[in-house]
Amino acid sequence: MYDVIILGAGTAGMTAALYTNRAGLSTLIVEQELYGGQIINTPEIENYPALPGVSGFDFVQNLYQQAVEAFQTEFVFGTLTSFDFQGDVKKITIGDQTYESKTVIIASGAKHKKIGCAGEETFQGKGVSYCATCDGAFFKGKEVAVVGGGNTALQDAKYLSRYCSRVYLIHRRDQFRAAQIEVEDALSRDNIMPVYDSVVEEIQGEQTVSSLKIKNVKNGTESILPVNGVFVAVGLNPQTELFRDSIAVDENGYFDAEEDCKTNLPGVFVAGDARRKPLRQLITAAADGAVSAEMAREYLDSRNEKEK
Ligand code: NAP
Repeated sequence: MYDVIILGAGTAGMTAALYTNRAGLSTLIVEQELYGGQIINTPEIENYPALPGVSGFDFVQNLYQQAVEAFQTEFVFGTLTSFDFQGDVKKITIGDQTYESKTVIIASGAKHKKIGCAGEETFQGKGVSYCATCDGAFFKGKEVAVVGGGNTALQDAKYLSRYCSRVYLIHRRDQFRAAQIEVEDALSRDNIMPVYDSVVEEIQGEQTVSSLKIKNVKNGTESILPVNGVFVAVGLNPQTELFRDSIAVDENGYFDAEEDCKTNLPGVFVAGDARRKPLRQLITAAADGAVSAEMAREYLDSRNEKEK
C-alpha cells in the first residue's frame, strides 16, 4: 500500500514525486511511454525562471535524477487497464498487476491534436511530423511548413529555420495566438514566411510529402505550396478520456479542478496540462506537481488524525 501513486512522469508528475518523496511519503510513479512529457521536445526553454537556454532534454534528465533516482522511487512503465478510485483504498491495474495506494495524483498531460485533413494519416512519418525537434534535422536545406499560430508553432518555425531553406507558417487567422516576443522573433527571420488566413486542405505526395493544398479562408482561393515536410502544431488534447466517468472534466475535456488540484473524489488530485487552467507552461506544470503533492500530504495527515 503506497501513500501516493502518481500517474504520468512529465514535469507535473515528477515534480509531485519530488515533493512526496521529500515529505517521506511512499511513492509509485506509473508512466506509459517515456518519462519527461512534452518538454523533452523543446530545444531551448526560454521562460523558466533562472534556467535560460536549458534544453528540454537536459531539464527532464535533471528532474528525473532529482525527483526519481535520488529517492529510488519505484517506477513502473505500463498502460492502465483498470482503476478504482472511489474508496479509501485506490487501486490501479497494469497488465496482471494491481497496485494500491491511499492517494492518487493524475498528471496524464496532453497530446498533439491533428489537423484532420486528407493525407495527414497517410504521410505521418513520411513528411508529416508533430515534433520539430525530433524530425527537423531530416529536412536540412528543404522547404517545410508549420501549421498553427500558438507558441508551439512559432517556436517550431524558429527551430526549423535553422535547418530548412524556407519555413511557411500557416495560420488560420491573421493574428497569432503566441506571445508577442515569439511572434516578433520568428517573423524577423528571413526564411520564415507567414501564410495568414489559410488552412491546409490536403497533404499531397507520392511516397513522401511534396506539396500542400491550402485554402485562403477569407477569399476562398486555393493554392498549392510545394514543401517536403509539414509540422503540425495546432494544440493539445488533454489525456483524460479514461477517467471521465468518475472524475469531472470541463467542456474541453480538461480535469475540472481548481488551483488546489483537488478533484470530486477524495484523495484524488490532478496536476499539469490535463487540468483546467489559464496557462499551460512548464512553470504551471511544476507548480501543480508541488501543490498536488502537498494536498495529498494534507489529506493523508487528516486521515491519520481521524484514525487515531
Ligand atoms: P495553442 O496555444 O492551443 O495553439 C494552437 C494553434 O493552432 C492556435 O493558433 C489555433 O488557431 C491553431 N489551430 C487549432 N486547431 C486548428 C486546426 N484544426 N487547423 C488549423 N489551426 C488550428 O497550442 P500550442 O501552441 O500547442 O500550445 C499549447 C499550450 O502550451 C499553450 O498554453 C501554450 O502557451 C503553451 N506553450 C508555451 C510555450 C512557451 O515556451 N511559452 C511553448 C509551447 C507551448 P487559433 O489561434 O485560431 O485558435
